[in-house]
Amino acid sequence: MKPAKFDYIAPTTVDAAIEALSTANGEGKVLAGGQSLLPLLNFRMARPAVLVDLNGIKELSFIKLRGDRIAIGALTRHREIEQSPLIASKLPVMAAAMRHVAHLAIRNRGTIGGSVSHADPAAELPMLSLFYDATLSVQGPSGRRSVAAEDFFVDALTNCLEPDEIVVELEFPVLQHSGWAFEEVARRFGDFALASVAVSVRRKSSTIDDARVAVMGVADTPLRLRQVEGKLTSIAIDGQTPDRFAELVTSCVSANGDLHASAEYRQHLLGQLAKRAMQASLAAKG
Ligand SMILES: Cc1cc2nc3c(=O)[nH]c(=O)nc-3n(C[C@H](O)[C@H](O)[C@H](O)COP(=O)(O)OP(=O)(O)OC[C@H]3O[C@@H](n4cnc5c(N)ncnc54)[C@H](O)[C@@H]3O)c2cc1C
Repeated sequence: MKPAKFDYIAPTTVDAAIEALSTANGEGKVLAGGQSLLPLLNFRMARPAVLVDLNGIKELSFIKLRGDRIAIGALTRHREIEQSPLIASKLPVMAAAMRHVAHLAIRNRGTIGGSVSHADPAAELPMLSLFYDATLSVQGPSGRRSVAAEDFFVDALTNCLEPDEIVVELEFPVLQHSGWAFEEVARRFGDFALASVAVSVRRKSSTIDDARVAVMGVADTPLRLRQVEGKLTSIAIDGQTPDRFAELVTSCVSANGDLHASAEYRQHLLGQLAKRAMQASLAAKG
């Protein structure tokens, strides 16, 4: 199929993009990598009157160290994140997850701003923004505001943006942890995840002193498991810790089923991936 008719605007500044969206009066949509939006246009599931193409706004593409945070511009491509030495050294869970994001051709075009805005519950970057406690900078007609990742994802494929707002950048605090892991199962490598678990821990002798845990593919949004994180800090590390962690994760999450996998299978995957992720996190020297 072909898209319904739309006007096309290609601004070169963020202000001009916002103005175009405001003028469209709720009938505008921004285009970033187009990897999710173009199929929606072709199937006429999205029928914007105006398409505002962000690809000419060069200031939206960057990866920078900003104090103890990594800032990533909304138009930064998945492939740039995957290949960045800064991401590899400061946000290792993100670096490990990026090769699971679709296929190379899609990673060459897809952007971080497009991925978080699309808010697919089985997409890696929305989950990583929760995992790292990212802050999103959002710009609209009245200026910029900051949104915590935890407030950004409202439901499956639904974020908290107003129709005339765009994501301009994300800031990820760097974790000072000793071990981490990212585990995922998809039907075929590069497909959206059936289930995925991200873990990072800081060890203090034989206990876990600080932990991060997030999962995706199992609910309507990615989930940060703060309750599990809290419980981890009170258990001693021994041979049973990965199994106990898997029990904690599966007791906190009730997986959804769909045509790709039943709820029971996803719940089983979640436990197995959690166990593997904790084994790898604790095996790391740090
Ligand atoms: C076959 C296939 C497999 C895929 N597998 C995966 C996968 O395994 N994991 C994964 O994470 N992703 C996967 N994707 C999605 C891919 O990562 C997309 O690139 C991503 O979801 C959207 O990014 P984009 O830059 O292409 O956004 P676009 O398609 O251009 O836009 C997506 C949506 O976000 C909005 N938008 C874009 N940028 C902004 C912004 N800065 N501010 C506000 N709104 C904005 C658009 O208006 C649109 O509604 C897959 C895609 C395909 C086609």
